[in-house]
Amino acid sequence: ALAGVAYIGYGVYQDRNPEPQAEPDPSKKTLVILGTGWGSVSLLKRLDTENYNVIVISPRNYFLFTPLLPSCTTGTIEHRSIMEPIRTILRSKKASVKFYEAEASAVDPDRKVVRIFDTSEVKGDMIETEVPYDMLVVGVGAENATFGIPGVREHSCFLKEIGDAQRIRKRIMDCVETAAFKDQSPEEVERLMHMVVVGGGPTGVEFAGELQDFFEEDIKKLVPEISDRFKVTLIEALPNVLPSFSKQLIEYTESTFKEEKINIHTKTVVKKVTDKTVEAEVTRADGTKEKVTFPYGLLVWATGNAVRPVVKDLMDRIPAQKNSRRGLAVNEYLVVQGARDIWAVGDCAVAGYAPTAQVASQEGNFLARLFNNMARTEALESKVRELSSTLNLQPGNTAEISREIEEYERQLRRIKDVKPFHYSHQGSLAYIGSEKAVADVTWFNGNVAAAGGLTYLFWRSAYISMCFSTRNRLLVINDWVKSKVFGRDLSR
Ligand code: NAD
Repeated sequence: ALAGVAYIGYGVYQDRNPEPQAEPDPSKKTLVILGTGWGSVSLLKRLDTENYNVIVISPRNYFLFTPLLPSCTTGTIEHRSIMEPIRTILRSKKASVKFYEAEASAVDPDRKVVRIFDTSEVKGDMIETEVPYDMLVVGVGAENATFGIPGVREHSCFLKEIGDAQRIRKRIMDCVETAAFKDQSPEEVERLMHMVVVGGGPTGVEFAGELQDFFEEDIKKLVPEISDRFKVTLIEALPNVLPSFSKQLIEYTESTFKEEKINIHTKTVVKKVTDKTVEAEVTRADGTKEKVTFPYGLLVWATGNAVRPVVKDLMDRIPAQKNSRRGLAVNEYLVVQGARDIWAVGDCAVAGYAPTAQVASQEGNFLARLFNNMARTEALESKVRELSSTLNLQPGNTAEISREIEEYERQLRRIKDVKPFHYSHQGSLAYIGSEKAVADVTWFNGNVAAAGGLTYLFWRSAYISMCFSTRNRLLVINDWVKSKVFGRDLSR
């Protein structure tokens, strides 16, 4: 047993302390990576960091496994189970990587510097500085789209960051406890117990499903006196939810929601939000439009992505980005069009794919391969140069040196031939509540649509295998078992 523990200990700690690199090595290029999301972290995971002076900058000092974020809103999963500290990730790299917890406010592509600021709570003041780069990767993601609809920012909860999930979890219980408070009017109880979700994309659908589970499995048992008032409403502007999934899965989701008593309002566009109501316009079957008002206790806004100000600012500085709307237009090597030495990955890059975790992580992997190759190319080229110069000085060894040069040149030809980025879609998965999931999966070059309980088990195992680390995997499994056996934790 002791040997086993020692082995695990060795496995965990071996090679895990790269030498601290006090000063950047002047013989290497400085590679600055903005962000710690799917794109940036996938890049870091595969990057041979010894080839560059790598600096990671992000206001978030952890990687977040976003596919399980909706489960954090109800306590099915505890938030720390899906977070992995960036410093733990960096510690497993061969060469040391610098990390600054800060937000990038601007990139100057002419001076090749990134302006960053750190709103440190310890120091109190805002610390602002500049970081120069030779190569820059922008992987800052996107922010929540509100389309300028009045009241959204002030009154609704988003579902993008860990803080959003915590806020929702508190708010659900605030609504339930307030509704259960002494002498509440029936209308007020109804309002407080009405949970409204705007946006019928995967985020809105998964959250609505989780919420209904929470209600069915826990709230109903623990707060029975008001439980018949609990209601989840999903509002979607288009004629159906999950527009990116196949038709049969859309129908399956909508009928499951009906069984689960989740109200779906399609063809309903939200126009205004106040502290207690959502005002929308619904298009009826005969084409007429009608105004409807939904009083709510909790409002979750999940209408997709918008461009972050730092990305917008960079786009404005590059004339070739003039016609791009949804983010930084990149070429097939993920180079930001019209810029030098800047690449973009993930939701802030426009490469012709949907803004998903899957796309971002494949883009990150691609860049790691590209950068590793670039470094190897440079190393080989300098070896060839060196050998060619010795060729003149040591006439005796000519045959051997020439053979060596040839070998290096053959290697160079092979690695210089980097294929452009190609996204390989593995499929889409979404949890829809009551232990059912939908999946559009690519199988032997064909598409397979699956739904139901088995798909839910597939969803679980797929997400478990995708978790960042063994530690995350164990924590998530532990949370699932815990919430099943003991129920979710209702404390606020
Ligand atoms: P989304 O863009 O997929 O969906 C947003 C929905 O909101 C749209 O259907 C839109 O019609 C609707 N909408 C916009 N404005 C509205 C308004 N005023 N009133 C009513 N409805 C309105 O957004 P998302 O669900 O956050 O997903 C973002 C991206 O992340 C997508 O590419 C998605 O595929 C991906 N994602 C995937 C998964 C998964 O595969 N399980 C989970 C989450 C997110």
